[in-house]
Amino acid sequence: MGTHTSPAYSMSVDGILNFIQSLLEKLGMQHYEHAISLWLFFAACGVAELCISFSICTPLERYRPLTSWSKRNCIAADVIYAFFVRIVLYPLIAFFEYDWLHRQLNGFLQAHAITPPSLSRLLPFLVSWPAIVFIANFTLLDLADYWRHRLSHRYGWWYGIHSLHHAEDQMTFWSDDRSHILEDAITYVWLILVGLTIGVPSLQFPFLILCFRLLGSISHANTRVGYGWLGGHIFVSPQFHRTHHALRAAGRRSCNFGTTLSLWDISFGTARFRDNTVETGDAGAEPALVSGSWGEQQLAGFRRMIRLARRGKKTPSMRAA
Ligand SMILES: [Zn+2]
Ligand SMILES: [Zn+2]
Repeated sequence: MGTHTSPAYSMSVDGILNFIQSLLEKLGMQHYEHAISLWLFFAACGVAELCISFSICTPLERYRPLTSWSKRNCIAADVIYAFFVRIVLYPLIAFFEYDWLHRQLNGFLQAHAITPPSLSRLLPFLVSWPAIVFIANFTLLDLADYWRHRLSHRYGWWYGIHSLHHAEDQMTFWSDDRSHILEDAITYVWLILVGLTIGVPSLQFPFLILCFRLLGSISHANTRVGYGWLGGHIFVSPQFHRTHHALRAAGRRSCNFGTTLSLWDISFGTARFRDNTVETGDAGAEPALVSGSWGEQQLAGFRRMIRLARRGKKTPSMRAA
């Protein structure tokens, strides 16, 4: 486990892992107990985060909704995305892959007498402030994700797969996980590379991702509840992110690219606060991308990626693509 994780935090995680391992031994699955117990632990963390998102966002959308629809689209595909991300993708990438790469990198660096990177080595006084390290790592990963998202609107092929996320015309908190599998892969590779570069500990990385998921779900909620002036100038509020999803903002003309912190949009001149966007979607998206099944949306995303890639590197407008 991570060398810069607080002892109490590691002990509580180890306690839960020991409990899962003893359960697996009783079920006769001791050969794979370590991998399975880790998988179950992180999948359970992912589902617990989904339950927290659900219990925060459902009352907001029910009692303080921004808009309502006469006919609600089927949310089956969105629910599949949410569980697929938490049960399959998240444990696989956020812990197993990151931890393996982290150990490989540290082993290689130590074999060459190079000190592995980490914020607390760069700033030694942070060793006794693990919460500050966590927030600093969160902020740096969010900055990296701002640029990944901004670039995904710049290049045609990339927007082709990202447009699966923008095609949602009935945006709710479920919409956060609605993304193309290829885009998920790019996002995780991007975050893993940045995480390794700044030395995020193995056990911290999955919990940073969970924080992104929780704040991301809230920012997609169909609610008029905001964070106030100050909160809205630090965090991405539901209205701020809805402006990013506006019909006219699809493609290169978009704004508000931040994932959880709006301060990057403010710093880089892409923030737009005064819009009162209600309708969301992408006028150029084919019906399968908007309301198809999970598989139909994935295929439509591939088709649009190829179509936009053939038009050239950059496209002035994605509206009719
Ligand atoms: Zn976007
Ligand atoms: Zn979004």
